[in-house]
Amino acid sequence: VPVTAETVAELARADEHSAHNYDPLPVVIASGSGAWVRAIDGVDYLDVLAGYSALNFGHAHPELVATAREQIGRLTLTSRAFQHDRYAAFCADVARLCGKDAVLPMNTGAEAVETALKLSRKWGYDVKGVPDGRAEIITCAGNFHGRTIGIVGFSTDPDARGGFGPFPPGFPSVEYGSLDALAAAITENTVAVLVEPIQGEAGVLVPPDGYLAGVRRLCDEHRILLVADEIQSGLGRTGDTFACEHEDVVPDIYILGKALGGGILPVSAVVADRHVMDVIHPGEHGSTFGGNPLACVVGSAVVRLLETGEYQRRSRELGAYLHELLGQLPPDRVAEVRGRGLWAGVELAPGQPSARVICERLLARRVLAKDAHEGTIRIAPPLVISRDDLTWAVERLADALAG
Ligand code: PLP
Repeated sequence: VPVTAETVAELARADEHSAHNYDPLPVVIASGSGAWVRAIDGVDYLDVLAGYSALNFGHAHPELVATAREQIGRLTLTSRAFQHDRYAAFCADVARLCGKDAVLPMNTGAEAVETALKLSRKWGYDVKGVPDGRAEIITCAGNFHGRTIGIVGFSTDPDARGGFGPFPPGFPSVEYGSLDALAAAITENTVAVLVEPIQGEAGVLVPPDGYLAGVRRLCDEHRILLVADEIQSGLGRTGDTFACEHEDVVPDIYILGKALGGGILPVSAVVADRHVMDVIHPGEHGSTFGGNPLACVVGSAVVRLLETGEYQRRSRELGAYLHELLGQLPPDRVAEVRGRGLWAGVELAPGQPSARVICERLLARRVLAKDAHEGTIRIAPPLVISRDDLTWAVERLADALAG
């Protein structure tokens, strides 16, 4: 399908009065249901990005929408100055899902990451006994944890950090996937290791087998908190509730976001056991909107969906099928396919057009996908996608790769 004049005009209108911090594909979406969206010109597109995994349950999931609708007319915000009647249940639900004691709700992913960093530092000083001002949190090269000053300070992507310094110190960076590099970076002041179980924005990079278990072991040996950023990898995306489960690893701190808000509103959370969470006292951290009643009911409904196990099963089964299909793409076009569950990074072979160009060709073929860096197309459809739609999407991809 061609890009219509209506679409071009709407994009130009947006450009006129908005920051140009994104370069969206030329489509303007007006509605969505399940894995499909409809653009303003009436064309239907299959969404295989799923809002970077915020839409794991698809667009307008009936149960999530009904839950949100009911709550909107009742109570949406109290601030945390007062307790509301949805808060206790949400915290209990998310804690149970994680097998942890306590939940600290925030809104966006980046806020939850910052919260986990603050929690880790405080634990380091109050519990581990690290001298004041010396705490170190080890981070991984190629990471993506969000866009705040603190977070981009330990990004290794020049676009993410360039021009935004100075940055807070105390975040040494090591090669992702290397236990030797991690071991060498540990000092007596190390309080935490922050890791994505699979690096999403880096191009769906799966670390070597045994890496996460090895990180867990090193953290245990040196009394360091393992902080797992499961914002993109968690809540069913990889075929388990959490990507850490693949190696039977339980982190000290889970960071959740994206799909926790059911694709309806931003909901994030930091989840830990009491002995970690209790280093934060009244007045030391907070958020006006964090843990609001609307966020809580949607988050609880998301936990209910995940506790059926259906979405994890779909991700496992359809994910195996997706990887089988992607594995059949011609090797002169595709160098490598990485990922787990309904999550794949398709790395283009040398000499192929950029991933952006392939995504534009996919758009013309009514499939919405997004590049991750120059050479990788990421495929992360809603977990509710049908097998037929998945087949169709990969056929469209094969066609787009052919030119
Ligand atoms: N952490 C990971 C692993 C992510 O993939 C993202 C977003 O892509 C974030 C953190 C930041 O989340 P947000 O954009 O909600 O701040």
